[in-house]
Amino acid sequence: MARLLTGKEVASSLKEKTLALRLSLNEKGIAPGLGIIRVGAQPDDLYYESNLKRNCEASGVVCFVMELPFDAAQEEVERAVTAFSNDNAVHGILMFSPLPKHLNEEKIRALINPAKDVDCLTKAQQAEVFNNNPNCFAPSTAAAVMEILKYYDIPLKGKKVAMVGRSMVVGKPLAMLLLGENATVTICHSRTADLPAETKAADIVIAAIGRAKMFTADYFRAGQVVIDVGINSDPDREGKICGDVDTAAAAEIVDAITPVPGGVGSITSALTVYNTVLAAEKVFKEGVKLV
Ligand code: NAP
Repeated sequence: MARLLTGKEVASSLKEKTLALRLSLNEKGIAPGLGIIRVGAQPDDLYYESNLKRNCEASGVVCFVMELPFDAAQEEVERAVTAFSNDNAVHGILMFSPLPKHLNEEKIRALINPAKDVDCLTKAQQAEVFNNNPNCFAPSTAAAVMEILKYYDIPLKGKKVAMVGRSMVVGKPLAMLLLGENATVTICHSRTADLPAETKAADIVIAAIGRAKMFTADYFRAGQVVIDVGINSDPDREGKICGDVDTAAAAEIVDAITPVPGGVGSITSALTVYNTVLAAEKVFKEGVKLV
């Protein structure tokens, strides 16, 4: 039976680091603050926002929320982002995405101060991820996968990784982060010719496609590590979520696997708050330009 790589311990260790750094910044007169911008009231966004608030509270990070109506005008959202970008009390900005369709999201994202872009929404921060800058803020889900691999001492150097999914929030940035750790990465997607052959050839399989339990036993072999990024409605249990991997079937074969829930998804909010404190530390060390 596979070892379960649970996210709880990883999140706890991030929270401890956040608290320690926040305390030392307080001593230097800096109170790290996270600014959240939410347009509308999507249940998923509200759920994540409450996680972020809880994480901020636990680590003593100040949390500001700008809530705008679903039909907010472009100028209103632009004003909110610019206000946080220019506010010295806000060190990290998280804006829920995608924004409602009537808004020009690209234009709005461009107003986020890159130094405060703790969830990698700007092109500047994305470029840092692709430039292999060790101090970049990668998208929280991609970064959460790296935290799990690091926490559980999963070697990456020279290992073959099948990264399934090529979105800009998960697959592509994660492939770059893995490459930065000298893994040999194969990026797979919906047109990959023989996906089971690709995943079986890998030492580490990362599933990020959004298809409930699509990765059955046929995709795995003994000795592998499986990271399941997917969050889907469980077709077999109403009201529950499941990953992209058929966990029960895969766990019979592979060495280690992340559960869903309780895996990657349980780390992201702790990571965003940690990044906020790191962004505040940068302000202390280097100063930060307002936009
Ligand atoms: P996305 O933008 O929809 O991208 C899905 C990717 O999967 C695309 O690259 C797509 O290929 C590929 N794909 C779809 N069906 C496939 C198939 N049958 N075989 C191989 N590849 C296939 O999704 P995303 O935003 O990256 O999210 C992926 C999953 O992660 C979702 O379940 C999402 O809920 C979850 N997620 C979890 C967290 C977390 O905190 N744990 C955060 C964000 C997302 P093409 O490019 O060819 O279309």
